[in-house]
Amino acid sequence: MSPDEFRTYGHQLVDWVADYWTSLPQRRVRPADPPGAVAAKLPAGPPATGDGFASLVDDLDTIIAPGLTHWQHPRFFAYFPANTSGPSVLGDLVAAGLGVQGMLWATGPACTEVETVVLDWLADLLDLPEKFRSRSTGGGVIQDSASSATLVATLAALHRASGGDWRAEGTRRRYTVYTSTEGHSSIEKAARMAGIGDAGLRLIEVDEETLAMRPDRLRERIAADVAAGAVPALVVATVGTTSTTAVDPLPAIAEITREYGIWLHVDAAYAGSAAVCPELRAGQVGLEHADSYCFDPHKWLLTGFDCDAFWVADRAGLIQALSVLPEYLRNAATDSDAVIDYRDWQVPLGRRFRALKLWFVLRWYGAEGLRAHIRSHVALARDFAALVRADQRFEIVAPYPYALVVFRLRGAAPDDADRANAALLERLNADGGVYLSHTRVRGRYALRLAVGSPRTTAADVAAAWDAIRSAADAVAGGSSV
Ligand code: PLP
Repeated sequence: MSPDEFRTYGHQLVDWVADYWTSLPQRRVRPADPPGAVAAKLPAGPPATGDGFASLVDDLDTIIAPGLTHWQHPRFFAYFPANTSGPSVLGDLVAAGLGVQGMLWATGPACTEVETVVLDWLADLLDLPEKFRSRSTGGGVIQDSASSATLVATLAALHRASGGDWRAEGTRRRYTVYTSTEGHSSIEKAARMAGIGDAGLRLIEVDEETLAMRPDRLRERIAADVAAGAVPALVVATVGTTSTTAVDPLPAIAEITREYGIWLHVDAAYAGSAAVCPELRAGQVGLEHADSYCFDPHKWLLTGFDCDAFWVADRAGLIQALSVLPEYLRNAATDSDAVIDYRDWQVPLGRRFRALKLWFVLRWYGAEGLRAHIRSHVALARDFAALVRADQRFEIVAPYPYALVVFRLRGAAPDDADRANAALLERLNADGGVYLSHTRVRGRYALRLAVGSPRTTAADVAAAWDAIRSAADAVAGGSSV
């Protein structure tokens, strides 16, 4: 494709994406087709000669877009958002066009330096502790996901807990990792990948009311493990758990991690974006005692997947844990020790210019634009919660400090209530007008409504509530889905 062809078709595709966004309210949020429907429409193999562009766009229109769950849809309320935006897409377009590999400062000076500056900006915007800034002992890096951030934190924690022996020895000692029963599954995965295994993972009980980790139970478990000869390496506290956005008490947890010298990683994958608003920073009190912190701008900060912002308080420790320097990567800048080589801050060697989309987003919206985005969702979620509270058939089952409301139909018999709530969700989502997801809270089935699309308005939330009430009527009336 020549640059001129790229220009022509690129313009067409920018139009296509803009039209797609405009078309979202008219689309089902999820397709109704069964598994295999998309694959069945695709040719059996690649074309022997190039297909041309027209048929590609045609396939986008007729096969791909209709076969998608539309995460940018204004009535997508499931899971957590994965919102994107024009500036993010354009930043990614430029990054893709540049095709830079930023594994070393030398292979991408601007790629590296923009990332360092953008993560410092972001630390300012969220009012993170000074130690996470590059001008201090720490610094930030973009990972592909919060899962990778947790893995990297686990490896750095092992390195520290072993007194530096882990690099040579691996996990010869019995290391343990702690999170709450509500901690994300990526922590379990990280423990496995790091060689600690399920046997070394401790899921700490949560408070019945707040669903946040109980520091008294954490302390007991750590003390028992130490007495049994284990080496506690890492505690992962969560600000905004996946199920209900519960917030673990960082000050009390940090008191314990400091006492035992355990690495404290704070996972705020979803809720971290809220900290652009000063009034939504309560969850990060105590963060000054954490060794690492991450959140996903690719969830709620208008930056398309993938973009996890990860900070460490002690970059030297992280680099010692992960650095491997083969001859073919040696260069004068690395040897000078005056630059950051982000390959030492992550699992892969190669890395693309992800900072560009984040930089575009921060510059386009500015702090006030991002705050308005978050505040509008928090307000819409509170409006929705008020609607739920006003209907005696429903109950809200967890605090909602951000833009997720977890609720369910009441019911005297728990199993019957679970079945009714599951039936309600199935009916609701089968219609295609809205999309919600579910969880279990204190063992009971519950529905989750997360406001997160930049296109969601009060009318969309009202439509969701109407659909929920109609589905509840149908479930109560016993009609099948
Ligand atoms: N941690 C929490 C609290 C989450 O809610 C999620 C995803 O929802 C993750 C981690 C994993 O995020 P990622 O997809 O970026 O790995």
